[in-house]
Amino acid sequence: MSLADSSPPPPPLQAWIRNECEARWHALANCLGKDPSIFFPEDTVSNRPHLYDEARRICEACLVQVQCAEAGKHEQLGMWGGMSPSERHPKKVRLKLVLE
Ligand code: SF4
Repeated sequence: MSLADSSPPPPPLQAWIRNECEARWHALANCLGKDPSIFFPEDTVSNRPHLYDEARRICEACLVQVQCAEAGKHEQLGMWGGMSPSERHPKKVRLKLVLE
């Protein structure tokens, strides 16, 4: 394959590129180097949506939201893929509110 060749890479190369991107998505994260407390606020009990406002702004411009959301889909705390815990687990929050 020459540089002038614009055809897509052959399937094994496509698979390798996809695997590399999946394995290294965190290197493209918009939150890289940011204060972790923005994404994991100490006040996790009240679950107030505004706690995640700054994180939400950072996540909105992130190129790897999909990969992050997949990685954090079972996490109970923090912002993952631009979603707060109550956005990832709406049923759990509803159940908590009913029980309180
Ligand atoms: S979507 Fe995930 S990886 Fe991207 S900035 Fe938000 S928390 Fe970080």
